[in-house]
Amino acid sequence: MSVVELASELEDLLGSVGVSVDERVRRTASTDWAHMSPVLSAKLPAGLADVVAFPRTPEELARVLQAAYRRRVPVTPRGKGTGNYGQAIPLADGLVIDLTRCRRILEIGDGYMKAEAGATFVVMEAAAHRAGQDVCVFPSTVGSTVGGFISGGSGGTGSVEHGRTWDGNILALDVVPCTEDADLLARKGFEETLPFCHAFGTSGIVATATVRLAPARQWTALFTSFEHFADAVEAGRQIMALDPPPRLLSIDDPGLVEHYGDPAAMPLGKVSLRAIIDTSVVSDAGAVVTAAGGTVEEVRPKGAGLLTSLSFNHSTYRLRKARPEFTHLQVGGAGLVERTREAREVLPETLLHLDGVQGPSYAGMLMCRYDGEAALLAGIRGLEGLGVTVSSPHTWELHHDRVGLIRSTAARLDPAGLLNPGKLPAA
Ligand SMILES: Cc1cc2nc3c(=O)[nH]c(=O)nc-3n(C[C@H](O)[C@H](O)[C@H](O)COP(=O)(O)OP(=O)(O)OC[C@H]3O[C@@H](n4cnc5c(N)ncnc54)[C@H](O)[C@@H]3O)c2cc1C
Repeated sequence: MSVVELASELEDLLGSVGVSVDERVRRTASTDWAHMSPVLSAKLPAGLADVVAFPRTPEELARVLQAAYRRRVPVTPRGKGTGNYGQAIPLADGLVIDLTRCRRILEIGDGYMKAEAGATFVVMEAAAHRAGQDVCVFPSTVGSTVGGFISGGSGGTGSVEHGRTWDGNILALDVVPCTEDADLLARKGFEETLPFCHAFGTSGIVATATVRLAPARQWTALFTSFEHFADAVEAGRQIMALDPPPRLLSIDDPGLVEHYGDPAAMPLGKVSLRAIIDTSVVSDAGAVVTAAGGTVEEVRPKGAGLLTSLSFNHSTYRLRKARPEFTHLQVGGAGLVERTREAREVLPETLLHLDGVQGPSYAGMLMCRYDGEAALLAGIRGLEGLGVTVSSPHTWELHHDRVGLIRSTAARLDPAGLLNPGKLPAA
């Protein structure tokens, strides 16, 4: 009953185009990329929105949250639904707030851009370029929203130099709590914005984000190949130490490269190292590659977009399209590059994709044949024993070292526990 009443109240607030109870719309608003994980595909409880709201402004968002709070209806915020842990799936049904219509770029200045939560990185990067700047960090899912990236993602293109989202790349947020008098709360700087980073919207809903921009560089795409993985890893380390550092640097096993197409730039049977680099360091990077025993295959001025689409979880996506029997783990840590040979023996048919991150060091995706959840969990323990850190993409609950901070923030900003229920594990 409260949901029916909420739908009618939302129609008064947003007009009939701003709210939907149509089954097709509700189903679309209740999915994400959890199907990337065979564990989640089998175990994630299905949730289905009862009603979907499409606020167009932060002020409308605040009024929607007030209405949901009064009727104690669970609320799941949503950007483009590209998250891959089921984090946008409304496990307790209720209201899904789709923020993709709340998407204006509000302000661009020297070193910053303020945008509404539903702005996509395609639009933000184009706007930054018109102002002679680059967005510091964005994910390989360039069509995803800034609110979704801050709340569900971590890093991507730009992370070699600028780190993860929470490493100073979010300058300010306006967040909306789920309370009777919900209104925009201004949060500035690292300390105040941290409780909303990778929080799945459980501690408040991001209405606007002010993200860091840097002066634009002349980026170009470098494609190189190696016989041996270890040589590519060493060359990558040296390229990441160049000034300026690459915007992105990725390394793939030949077993992944065969699914990428473009064999002229990424020859079959070879390890591929690719990087988005400033044109001023092309010859230095080439010299590093040659000295490490590699070959420069191509320098492609308009290739940066392609390299982004072969980075981070896009590597998993491309492999699984061809070989759905594979699964992935998000990995990092010293063991990944220092004990690679042993790490490859832990899980069956292991393939490695690495991305450079701030340090400089490497994080990446370890892909393997999926022989069931028990075997995968045993494999995670085996990898951790080698000093490989594993962030499992096979759970829908938040598990990281800032969950306590998120929980205490949620206790204040979501006193009735209505925001994205089921994602914040019990204390
Ligand atoms: C093929 C593939 C590649 C990927 N590559 C990367 C990558 O390079 N780097 C990376 O970090 N991630 C990556 N991801 C994960 C995901 O794409 C990113 O985190 C993305 O930025 C999420 O944005 P979205 O708009 O799709 O958010 P959604 O998936 O809609 O939402 C993500 C989470 O944030 C919450 N949320 C959404 N909007 C808000 C808001 N305004 N306020 C509060 N909470 C909100 C949702 O409830 C959900 O919990 C990848 C995923 C796939 C499938």
